[in-house]
Parts: sequence; structure tokens; C-alpha cells
Amino acid sequence: MSSERAALIVARAEELAGLSEEVGALTRRYGSQALLDALALAERWMREAGLATRRDAIGNLIGRLEGERPGLPALALGSHLDTVRDAGRWDGPLGVLLAIDQAAARSGAGDSADACPSADAGPSADAGRRRALPFALEAVVFADEEGLRFPTAYLGSHVWAGRWDAAELALTDADGVTLEAAIRAMGGDPARVGEGARNPGELLGWCEAHIEQGTRLERAGLPLAVVTTIQGQSRCTATFRGQAGHAGTTAMDARRDALLAAAEWALGVEAKGLAGDGLVATVGRLSVEPGAVNVIPGVAVASLDLRHPDDATRHAAVASLAALAQAIAASRGVTVDWAQHTDNAAVAFSPRLQELLGQAVEETTGSAAPRLASGAGHDAAPLSRSTDVSMLFVRCKGGISHNPAESVSGDDVAAAVAAVDRFVDLLAAAERSIARE
Ligand SMILES: [Zn+2]
Repeated sequence: MSSERAALIVARAEELAGLSEEVGALTRRYGSQALLDALALAERWMREAGLATRRDAIGNLIGRLEGERPGLPALALGSHLDTVRDAGRWDGPLGVLLAIDQAAARSGAGDSADACPSADAGPSADAGRRRALPFALEAVVFADEEGLRFPTAYLGSHVWAGRWDAAELALTDADGVTLEAAIRAMGGDPARVGEGARNPGELLGWCEAHIEQGTRLERAGLPLAVVTTIQGQSRCTATFRGQAGHAGTTAMDARRDALLAAAEWALGVEAKGLAGDGLVATVGRLSVEPGAVNVIPGVAVASLDLRHPDDATRHAAVASLAALAQAIAASRGVTVDWAQHTDNAAVAFSPRLQELLGQAVEETTGSAAPRLASGAGHDAAPLSRSTDVSMLFVRCKGGISHNPAESVSGDDVAAAVAAVDRFVDLLAAAERSIARE
């Protein structure tokens, strides 16, 4: 049964991949016709799944299946349908399609073509799954996760978390189009965006299935993992200043080469990351002045992106790399200016939802679920401020993402379908036992 449902998800991911604003590449920016088309398709699938749909002013699409009584807090499942430029078909759609699949399984609308189970067949798992839940289910498409078009990201989940800032209406894209105009293009009223905030009492929690975007599952030979946290992130700039000079006349032992100081430091950054405590550290940008083939570099500006699940470990690593930059600069007769631009705390995922997801994965796959920290940001980060959050990672081929080569096997989609089924069952049982106490 889960393999049939997985086949439908694979087919739908392909259908969504055909909706793009560019020829020959998959790109869906916030406010684009391609994104509106994808939302319309998802909304149609939600209705066919028996969900009542609505859109808020920022453009989040919400399909709701009531539980045992109307108005119960909702378990929200979903992801996003906006993309990066020249994207793959799974980053976002996987979580959206699994959410719609789950709602369809619970409403029974997804298998309405089937004959009713005969009475003598006994209670089937599918019939059991259609029993009303002690919470509502919502399938959610957040309007703008990637932040490709405007200098902002997680717009939809910021609105849900009550963190919308109306000053952002004036943000412009590369063509000078304002966010306000893009919200109108999405069909929303810019003056009413803040009304999309969810009262914490409306939500039981958030669960997003997403491709891993890494190779840890592939290396482990396992389809699914439970996410523990989104890593905290620091961004810094080290500006090394030496002395520019003639490449032909300045003796090798009389140079104050800023680039070589930066290069030695970049190798130190790599060594720090390789030390094996889960730190990932990247020097992604290096600019050199004056930047001429026959001039010793006088200035080298290097960026640092540093992430770790534990904030104290990350802060200690930043301090140690700043000290390393000073030591290398001093040994080479150059100076270094250190600036920190970003200090985003790690996101705490719900221990309770992690536990239930882990149990669901273990029971359905027969293997304990690895616990992984997410290196990438997700809507769970803003949402964690207002509700319990959780994520399920699904193995993707080669760890490739943000790339047309993104690939997830049908078997792994089926594993995710079964795990989400079990997770919702386990959460329902847990909620019922709380209600009895
Ligand atoms: Zn994503």
C-alpha cells in the first residue's frame, strides 16, 4: 500500500517539476506564476484528499482535516514549493506531497475508488488509519522558504510564528519590484499579512519531511533519520593587511603578503573542521587587493561560515579561529581585523516528537533511526519559537540538492510514507493517553 502511495508521490513530484518560470530549468520564485501554478495544483490535490483549504495573505496554503471534534489543535505537516534557481524536484515538494498523502490516508478520500473493505476481512490497517484523530491534521505549503527573490527567507513561517515585520514590504528584488507588489501577485493583501500568525494553542506541532541534503544516510545504508536540531551558525570576516609590493624586486624574506596569511589561516579553518567534533567550517570567499599578477597582495579579505549543533562549542570555535588569525598574522608581519556578522543560535527540536518519530522509523524500517543535526536552515527554525517542531530526513542520492540532479528512490519515499503513518498513530495514542490521565 505504501508503495502505491509512494508511486503517486513520485508522479506528482514530476508533475510539479514541470512548473517553472524558466525554460530548461526548474525555478519558482515567490510571486511568480510558476509558484502560483504549483500552489493551485497542490490545492487541487488537497481538496481531492478531503481537506478544507485556505490561503493566508503572505500566500501560505493550508489544507485542514478536522479531528474527532472541529477546532482541535493541529499537527501541521508540510514544506515549501518555492525553489532556488535551477533546482531539483524534491527539496520542498517531498514534504508537501507526504503531507497531502497522509491527510488523504486519514480522510479516506485518497482511496475512494476502492471498494469498501468487506466486513469479513476484519479491521484493516487502512480502515484503522481512517479513524478520526484526537487532533486536526494540516497539510501546509509555506510561501517562501528559499528566499531566492527578496533579501529575506522563511517569509511564510515567520508570519505563522508572529514575526512578520511590515517594514519588509519595501524590500525589492533585482528588478526593483517590491515585496508588497509580489504579495499582491500572490493574491494576498499586504495590509493583512500579520493576521496569518498562528495562536500557539492552534498547533500541536510541526513535522516536515525533507531530503537530507547530505550523505550520512547514504553512507549508513539507511533511508530515514530523525533531525535533532538545526545547527547554529556564525559568519565572520577576517581582513588581513600586509604590504603590496613589486613581485620582481621584493625579496622573498622581506614580504608581508596578506594572501599567504589568509591562506595559512584557511588551512587552519579546515583543520578545525576536520578535528571531528561535528564542526563544519568554510572559507567561501576570498578577495585579494590589489589583485594584480605582478603585485604582492596587500589585503586579503576572507569569509568564515561556521556551524555546530551546540552553541557553546560553536562560540569556542569562533574564538579559537579568531586567535589563530591573530597568531598567523603576527608571525607573518601583517595585521588582521576580525568582524562577526551573524550569530544564529541552534534550533531546539521537540524531544517528544523526536522520540515518537524515532520509534516510528525503527518500527517501520526495522533499524534504529540515526539522529542527525541539519546543516541547512528550514521553516522549523522560525516555527520553533511558537510550537514544537520536528523533521524527518529522507536519503537522497549522493547528498545532492539545490541541483537538477536531486534524486530520491521510490522505495525511500515508501519508507517515509510508512514512517509518517506510524508517527501519526503514535502521536494519536500519546495524546489519547494524556487525555485519559
Ligand atoms: Zn527545503
